[in-house]
Amino acid sequence: MDIKKLVKPNIRSLRAYHAEEIPCRVKLDANESPYGVTVLKSVKTNKYPDPEALELRKLVAKDLKVKTENILHGNGSDELIYNLIVTFGGPVLYPVPTFSMYGIISQTLGEQKMEVLLDEKFDIDIDITLKAIKKNTPKLIFLSSPNNPTGNCFSPDKISKIITQSKGLVIVDEAYQAFSGKNQFIPLLKKHKNMIILRTLSKIGLAGLRTGFMIADKEIVNEVNKVRLPFNLNSLSQKVAIDSFKDKKEMRLQLRAIVSERKKLLKEMGEMDGINPYPSDANFILFKTDDADGIFKKLLKKGVLIRNMSGAIDGCLRVTVGTPRENAAFIKALRQVL
Ligand code: PMP
Repeated sequence: MDIKKLVKPNIRSLRAYHAEEIPCRVKLDANESPYGVTVLKSVKTNKYPDPEALELRKLVAKDLKVKTENILHGNGSDELIYNLIVTFGGPVLYPVPTFSMYGIISQTLGEQKMEVLLDEKFDIDIDITLKAIKKNTPKLIFLSSPNNPTGNCFSPDKISKIITQSKGLVIVDEAYQAFSGKNQFIPLLKKHKNMIILRTLSKIGLAGLRTGFMIADKEIVNEVNKVRLPFNLNSLSQKVAIDSFKDKKEMRLQLRAIVSERKKLLKEMGEMDGINPYPSDANFILFKTDDADGIFKKLLKKGVLIRNMSGAIDGCLRVTVGTPRENAAFIKALRQVL
C-alpha cells in the first residue's frame, strides 16, 4: 500500500519541523534558557487539569494589566499559532526569514501562505508588505518581534501601520519579549481590535512545561477557544507556571544574567575576524560567516551545538545565550575553529 497516496497533497509536500537531538557537550541551539526551576510539588494526577486554566490566566492577566477574558492558554505558543490558523484560515502572510512554524502550520492545514522579504536590516519592508496586504487581503499576519532567527525587533511604527491598514488580524509574536526590555504592544490592544499578542514561558526557563498565551479582544479569544482541545494545558504545567508567576524573583535574576551575557557575547564575537554578529533583542545571536557549514560542523566536533541557519539566511549561524560557562566554551571553541 502506498501510504503517501493516502496523505493529503498539502501534507505530502510538507517538510516536518526539524527538531533533531544531536549529542553535544554545550547545547546552544534551541533558544532555551540555561536556567529553570526545580519542581516536585504535589499535583493530583488522577484528576483532569482545570480546562480553563483559570488561576493561571488570572495571574497572567494581572501581570499584563488586561482582563482574564483577554487571555487564552496554549500548549506552548505553537499550539496557539495552530489554533489561530484553524479558526480563521488563510491567506496567512509573514515576513521572511522568520519562525518556520507559521509556514509549516499554514501548509499543514491547507491554507495559502504568503511570504514577503524583510529588508537588508531584517526590518519589515513596509512598502512591499503593505502592497502584498492590499493585493491579497490576508486573514492572518504573523510578525515575530523580536524576530527569530534574526534577533531584532521590528520598527513599532511599521507594525502599527500594518495593524491599521490590514483588514485581517495581526499577530505580534512576542516569544522573546522578555529579553528586549520593550513592552509597547499590550497597551495597544485596547485601541486595535484586530491585534493579537502571543507570549510564552518557553524562553524564560520553562520550555519543558509547554505553556503559552494569546492576549486579544474577548471576541477573538472566544472564537479561538472553540477549537482548543479541552485539557490542553496539563496540571503540572499549570501548577509550576502559577508558582512562577507568584514569585518572579528567580526568573528576574536569570533574565538579567542572560541579557548581560548576550552583551558580553556580542562584544567578544564582534571583535573576532571572520564573524559578523547582528544586534539582538532576544536570547540568541545571529552571526554571518564565510563558511557556515564548516564552522557549524567544526564546533560540533568540539561538542558545541549551535544552529545552522544558512538554509534560510546565507552564511548565517545562530547561537543561544547560555550560562557564562557555556558561553565561554562556545567562544573558546569558535576562536579555535576560526
Ligand atoms: N514563536 C517564536 C518566534 C518562536 O521562536 C518559538 C519557539 N522557537 C515559538 C513561537 C514557540 O514557542 P513555544 O511553543 O515553545 O511557546
